[in-house]
Amino acid sequence: MHPNVKKLIDLQTVDQEIVSLRRDTSSLPAEEAKRKKKLDEIDKVAAEKKDRSTKAELDYRALEKAVKQSDDEVKKLNERLNGVKNNAEYQATLFQIESVVRERDRVQDECLRILETTDPLKAEAAAAAQAAAEERKVFEGFLTEAQRLRIACEERVKGVVEKRKFVAEGIPPELLGTYDRLFATRDSLAVCAVERGHCQGCYNKVTTNDTAKLMGGATVVSCDSCQRILYLQR
Ligand SMILES: [Zn+2]
Repeated sequence: MHPNVKKLIDLQTVDQEIVSLRRDTSSLPAEEAKRKKKLDEIDKVAAEKKDRSTKAELDYRALEKAVKQSDDEVKKLNERLNGVKNNAEYQATLFQIESVVRERDRVQDECLRILETTDPLKAEAAAAAQAAAEERKVFEGFLTEAQRLRIACEERVKGVVEKRKFVAEGIPPELLGTYDRLFATRDSLAVCAVERGHCQGCYNKVTTNDTAKLMGGATVVSCDSCQRILYLQR
């Protein structure tokens, strides 16, 4: 085997190790996005429930205030009733009181109807807020763990990259460039074996002439079909 090809095989082992290490963390961004989306949805539900609860509370208070105003008005009208001068005015005031009381009772009913919903809505909002807080905690835990994984992975990659420098030493730059390009574009397999006359990268037949060159070991031979650098499997 050509000595440079032997070196490239070792280099490829190192490069494949780097690829494999990086694969450990390659799914993290997608996983993070998925979890963030879930959290956003839970946050949205919690915000909506809080809004509904707050609105019911405000509506209740507004109606309660309206009932109180009606009561005051009735009180004033009753006082006026004592000072009326004639029957017509008396009847008119009575009629007015009836009208205010009727409206007051209607508002009171509405107010009580809303009051029945405020506690359940408040409980629902609290449960949703609790669920959102728990989910946020889980998400933050995931972020911390993901970051820890990334750092650990980069540490290991750094170590292997250091080793790569030694392994790549002595390989002619042009050959190294060809190798790098092939490694990047041929699915992390730039150097591959020939078995029973076939390139194991693309499974095409290797010519007799190339097989002879490979046996001679004096030149670097590339596959005619996939351009991968070849060696004979013994
Ligand atoms: Zn090939």
